[in-house]
Amino acid sequence: MKYIGAHVSASGGVEHAPLNARMIGANAFALFTKNQRQWFSSPLSDANIGRFKAACLEGGFAPTHILPHDSYLINLGHPEEEGLEKSRLSFLDEMKRCEQLGLCLLNFHPGSHLNKVSPEGCLERIAESINWVLKQTSGVTAVIENTAGQGSNMGFSFAHLRYIIDRVEDKSRVGVCLDTCHTYTAGYDLVNEYDRVFDEFAEQVGFSYLRGMHLNDSKKPCGSRVDRHESIGKGYIGAPFFSRLMKDVRFDNIPLILETPDESLWAEEIAWLRAESEQC
Ligand SMILES: [Zn+2]
Ligand SMILES: [Zn+2]
Repeated sequence: MKYIGAHVSASGGVEHAPLNARMIGANAFALFTKNQRQWFSSPLSDANIGRFKAACLEGGFAPTHILPHDSYLINLGHPEEEGLEKSRLSFLDEMKRCEQLGLCLLNFHPGSHLNKVSPEGCLERIAESINWVLKQTSGVTAVIENTAGQGSNMGFSFAHLRYIIDRVEDKSRVGVCLDTCHTYTAGYDLVNEYDRVFDEFAEQVGFSYLRGMHLNDSKKPCGSRVDRHESIGKGYIGAPFFSRLMKDVRFDNIPLILETPDESLWAEEIAWLRAESEQC
């Protein structure tokens, strides 16, 4: 079965996210557990936590189908000590917020070398950061999102994901999230080489590590390494790819999350994806 949703707003409190997800017909969702443009936010209150858990239960959202996203400021591969330290502390805080909310996944962008350290050195720092955080938390899996490879962002090739996973000590608590727009603009031709791309993913990373996906069409062509999401069917990837993905059982039972730019289309996009998944 497919679990389809969107990255919904949690403004006014985390408990609003499951309510917003229900309103668009989702059976999965993503959220920020704090302001994504700040390093630290005030702690979650017991009231927020209680209402969040109750709303998830009432909406039928299981923790494995909820994919929180960390702050955009965090760079776990930061080349400088100060930035690295701040990123690690902020990420630890995000992991703890997930623990408090009874969640089991935290999605993050691996990090950037900022042209101050080698790409391998950056990937090693990212793995060390993950190890450092996993030792101080329990029950939450660090879910590495692949990137489009803009600027000095790492994680745009499946080999990068494997390089990090190889260096994570507790492999039961590391996973990956594939963003379709990022995969495509990073140079994997999902449109013309569907089988080859996912065979390569299976070989280099493995579907056992796949904890979620972001479903986005792309405003930019394959290999452009530019991260610009588009509504489903309106970009370079196009509807046939998403139709095929919805029928592919390798993507069952994980959160499939829209991060498409026009929120007013989410309910429609989810209904279309679900209908595609139900056709044989
Ligand atoms: Zn992301
Ligand atoms: Zn994404």
